[in-house]
Order: sequence, then C-alpha cells, then structure tokens
Amino acid sequence: MGTADNDSVYKGSDFDGNVSLDSLNLGSDYDPVDPGVDQVPPTPTVPCCQEHSHNKVQMYCNKCDIMVCTECVIGAHNGHKFSDLTKAASKKKLILKKHMLNISKTDCVELEEKLTKVRERKSENLRQTNETKDSLLRKGDELKEKVDRIVQGLVRKLSIQGKLNDDVLGEAERNIEERLCIRRSLAEACNTAFNSNDPVEIIQQEKTLKHTVQSRKDDGEITVPNLMFYDFIPGNVAEENIKEQIGELSEEMFIDTDFKFV
Ligand SMILES: [Zn+2]
Ligand SMILES: [Zn+2]
Repeated sequence: MGTADNDSVYKGSDFDGNVSLDSLNLGSDYDPVDPGVDQVPPTPTVPCCQEHSHNKVQMYCNKCDIMVCTECVIGAHNGHKFSDLTKAASKKKLILKKHMLNISKTDCVELEEKLTKVRERKSENLRQTNETKDSLLRKGDELKEKVDRIVQGLVRKLSIQGKLNDDVLGEAERNIEERLCIRRSLAEACNTAFNSNDPVEIIQQEKTLKHTVQSRKDDGEITVPNLMFYDFIPGNVAEENIKEQIGELSEEMFIDTDFKFV
C-alpha cells in the first residue's frame, strides 16, 4: 500500500499550506467554538471507492481532491501525493473555518450595514412622504379657505342689497295695503248709503262721505322705487391658474455614493 510520506504530502497539491489561524486575522470579539481540528472522531462508515466499489477508501489524493483506495494509489492516481483521511480532514477544517470567517466577517457585516442603510432610507422616505403630503394638504386648505372667504364676501354684499330692496318694497307694500283698506271701507260706506231706502239717510251719508271721497286723491301717489340688483357673472375657472397657486411637486434625486445596490 502506497502510504504517503507525511513530509511530502502537500507538495504539488492545490492546498494553500500557509493557512493558519493567525493568518485569518481574527477579531478580538470573535470567539469561535473550537472546531477540534486535532480531534477528528473516527469515521463511522468508511465509504467505498468510486472507481473500485469492492474497496473502502483509504487515502485522500491531494491533487484530485478525492478519497481513493489502494488500487487507485497504484493505478489512476499513480505519482500523486496523498494524505491519510484524518490529516486531510484537519486541513479541510481550516479551509472551512476560513470560509466561515470570511462570510461572517465580510459578507454578513457588509450586508448588515446595507440593511441598516436601507431601513434608514425606508423610514426617511416614509417621514418625507408624510411631511410633503401634510404641507400639500395645508396649501389646499389655505386655498379653499380663501375661496370660501371671497364667496362669502360676495354673498354678504348680495344679501345686503337684497335686504335693502326688500325693506323698500315692504314699505311700499304696507302703504298700498293701508290705502287699499281705506278705499275698500270708503267704497263699502258708499255702497251702504246707496242701498238705503231712507232718503234722509242717503242725503246725510252722501254729505258725510263727500269730503273723504274728494280728498282721497290728496294722499299722494304711491310709486314703486327703482331698485338695484346684482347679477352674478361667473369667472373662468382655469385649472392651470389654480395649480399655479397650489404649487407643484419638484423631483429630487437622492444619491448616496457610499452605497450601491448590487
Ligand atoms: Zn479505488
Ligand atoms: Zn489523484
């Protein structure tokens, strides 16, 4: 059986023989569980050789990175360098540890930093969006209040004139009603006298009523005064003008040169 010479085991292999715990540059905060490099437990089931299924594997071929049997050593792997399985496993453990440290020290730290940045950006985005929305809504309210105030001012002006007109017309209405009432009484009195069968009464009533009938024209003429009315001429509602008064959203590009998505 071609047992490998331990002194020459790694010569010509792909394995970087310089890997050591010191070269991993461990941080002081890193306290890995001791992987027990030198305490590899015996393999519970030794597999068979891939090429020679009747043989269990015995050695590790450094060049081919494969476990081989004794037939392989003198056959396809003739001239290659070999290690025993325990030794090879120890080296593999060091490589695994290096990977583990690279990933946890570099990849994970970088990703955690990116995650923190993205989360900060996310909450900043939320805050910024809400703030802009609030100021937009405030501007809308301001404009609505102004429109309401202007409309209410015009309505007030219109109402005052309407009330003035109503007062003037009401005064005329009352005068006419009053005069109508007097006229009706007078006509009624004339009618009563007219229908009387008593000549004395007719003569007396006619004399009594004469003055009132004659003087009824002296009350003066009732005229309906000229009135001033407001008409409403709706203005042109130009959306562009309203937009201009509200303002607009301006685009801002946030570029963080320290942070690139890959
Ligand atoms: Zn074999
Ligand atoms: Zn080989």
